[in-house]
Parts: sequence; C-alpha cells; structure tokens
Amino acid sequence: MAEPLVTAPDTVHLIRAKRDGQPLTEAQIGWLIEAYLGGEVADEQMSALLMAIYFHGLDQTELRAWTSAMIDSGERLELAGVGRPTVDKHSTGGVGDKVSLVLAPLVAACGAAVPQLSGRGLGHTGGTLDKLEAIPGWRALLSPAEMLAVLREVGCVICAAGPGLAPADRRLYALRDVTGTVESIPLIASSIMSKKIAEGTAALVLDVKVGSGAFMRAETDARLLAQTMVTIGAEEGVATSALLTRMDTPLGRAVGNAVEVEEAVATLRGEGPADLVAVTLALAREMLRLAGLDADPAAALADGRALAAYRAMITAQGGDPDAPLPVAAHSRPILNAPASGWLRKLDAYAVGVAAWRLGAGRALKEHPVNPAAGVLCLAKPGEWVERGQPVLELRTDDESRFTRAAEALTGAIEVGAEPPAASSPIIDRVNL
Ligand code: URA
Repeated sequence: MAEPLVTAPDTVHLIRAKRDGQPLTEAQIGWLIEAYLGGEVADEQMSALLMAIYFHGLDQTELRAWTSAMIDSGERLELAGVGRPTVDKHSTGGVGDKVSLVLAPLVAACGAAVPQLSGRGLGHTGGTLDKLEAIPGWRALLSPAEMLAVLREVGCVICAAGPGLAPADRRLYALRDVTGTVESIPLIASSIMSKKIAEGTAALVLDVKVGSGAFMRAETDARLLAQTMVTIGAEEGVATSALLTRMDTPLGRAVGNAVEVEEAVATLRGEGPADLVAVTLALAREMLRLAGLDADPAAALADGRALAAYRAMITAQGGDPDAPLPVAAHSRPILNAPASGWLRKLDAYAVGVAAWRLGAGRALKEHPVNPAAGVLCLAKPGEWVERGQPVLELRTDDESRFTRAAEALTGAIEVGAEPPAASSPIIDRVNL
C-alpha cells in the first residue's frame, strides 16, 4: 500500500516522533527535505528535528532516505562521457593535508579520471581550493562544461562544487553549524556522501583522519564514520572504501596555502616528505583498485608523469605553474626545544590553529585567506633536536598576528630521551 501523503501540518508530529525515538519513513524524510527547501518547514522546526537526530541517530533505512533526498535536491553530474573510469577521494580534513594536489594528477597519470569537486577551508584545517588559489591565475570556479573539458583533456580537475549539487546539504550544514548538531555521525556521513555521489564519480576513496588535528579525534568514531559512509556509497551504487589515517601531527612540513602548494610540487618532483608520500600512494593504490586499473602510482610519481598531469591541470584552469608563489613579509622561528632529545610530539591541532591565526584560514566563510601565511615544521616527531633549536617557523603578512598564533602553541611539543614509537600513517582500510 502506498504511504499516506504527509502534509505540512504533520511537521510537528514528525518532530515529536523522532524526538521520542521512532523511525521516520522514507516518504516522510523525502517530504521533510523537500518541504524545508520549499519553505514549508521552518528553520526552527528543522533545527529541532536535527537535534532529535543528533540524540537518536538515523537507522539504515532512514539514512538511505536522508542521503537520497539530499542528492535528489539538486543535479547529479553525468561523467560517463569522459572515456576513463572515474574515481575521486574525499578527506575529512587535516592539518597540512595537501594530498589532493598530488593525488589527483597522480591517479590521472595512471589512467583514471579524477573529478575533484572541493570546498574551502573553515577553521583550523585548510581547504584545497584556498591552497590552489595561491597560484597566480588559477580558477576554482568552472562551469560544468569547463570542468568536463578539463577532466577529459587532463584526466583530473579540482574545482568548486557548483550550487546545484546537493543544495539541501548546503542549507542543512549551515543550520547544523549554528545549532550544535554538526557532530552527528549519520548527519556527517550523509552530508559528505550526498555531495560526492551528486558529483557523478563511479568510485570513491575516503581518507578519514584520526587524531588531535582531525574532525574525529577517536579511532572508534572515525571507524564508525568510515563504515557509515562506505555503506551509503554501496547503496547508491558508488564503489566506496576508506582509509583511516593518522592526524596527530601535521602531514608533511608545510601548513598554509602557498607553502603547501610548494610542498605538493616538491612531492611531485620526487622530493616529498615520507608521511605525505605514504598517505598519497596508499590512497592512489586504493583508488586505482576501485577503478579497476592495474598501474603503479609509485612509478608515475618517480618518472614525472604525475608532475606533468599537475602542470597540465593548473594550466587548463588558468594558472601558471611556473609563476612565483606569494611569500610572507614576516617570518619568525618559534618553539625552541627545551632540551636536546627526540621530538616526541608536535600537536596537529595547535599547529592548525596557529596557521589559521596567522591568516592561512578563515573564521567565517565570507572571509578571504592570506595565501602567504602559514607554519613550517622545522622538525617532526621522530627527529632529533638540539636544545634551543626552533621547531616551527611562523609566516604572515601581518606581524600583529604572531602573538595570538604563538599562544595556540603552548604545550604543542614534547622532547624526550626516547624516540616516539614508530607508527605507520595508515591505520586501517575500511570496506564492506
Ligand atoms: N564536512 C561535510 O561536508 N559535512 C559535514 O557534516 C561535516 C564535514
């Protein structure tokens, strides 16, 4: 029998049902999201519903319906014509996470098409678009036709997700942000997956970061988020898997925008830091596996094919890969090692907040970022430091920012007589 039609006056009834722990039907969820976008469900009603979801979660059927309704709120890109298997990566965000800049061209150089529709950074983790915008001339805003042309010609594109992709998520995310309902695993999973599925990729690898600088600090939460997203992907017909990767300390040595582009290019030249190379190659192998391509990403990195794809992608999007990048007017060494010994800790969250306060990130989404601001890690955990040696270098165009940035770094390092236990940056793979 068909579901009874839900009409506008039932909104309060639906909120009460969810508040009392009863599951909503597919039809009810579909109606709620459509009616919210259409103005029939008010912000305060949706806020109450989100809070009820925060406390009671969504079961498997509800989660599928919630995600599908968000996808159906906008367009779903058609990428079948690009002529190569499509595969994308999404990271839950980390400090110094410039993986996309290396990974997209690397996987393209191995024969896949990587349609990376990205967002801007908010808070202590940077956004891929903000980083690439440090390159003179480079454009994040492409029309769908331009995006497809770059994808077809180069094999990868990194650009802003248009307003037509999962518009319900845009509205709901903004509401969650001001109602204390961001931190809900089903809401995070459906938010991320609705945007990635609407992008039209056939396969998706999730980089779910774990640790002080990550959205998910505890491994159990990260694992649950990864499992939830992998399940949503499978239900929507997108081959999806996830890697759990460490984010206790910044990835690589550069945190900011121009400084991260420089480090990404060095990595493409074969001179990358070991942790960044390890995470990038692990994600590349997983992407190629899901795309059904038998290629060796380490070889494509070593022989310059990935660098050539990167240069082609930057040029196709109006950028000059040879142009000098902005350099900060002021730099300051900081955090002198209190004793000679092994650096045991360099806290990712503290470094992320310092970079943000120096101007590399934004507090409100309308704010610009400073392309030259950032932090360089002069030493990383596992390296020997001499007493008095600075562990970080702060960079900014606005000297008045140094004090607040330095305040964020109190307690950020630990030096000891023993090196920290060696650990791989890859914790685990999560798939169905
Ligand atoms: N990133 C998203 O896109 N959505 C969330 O809900 C959280 C992080």
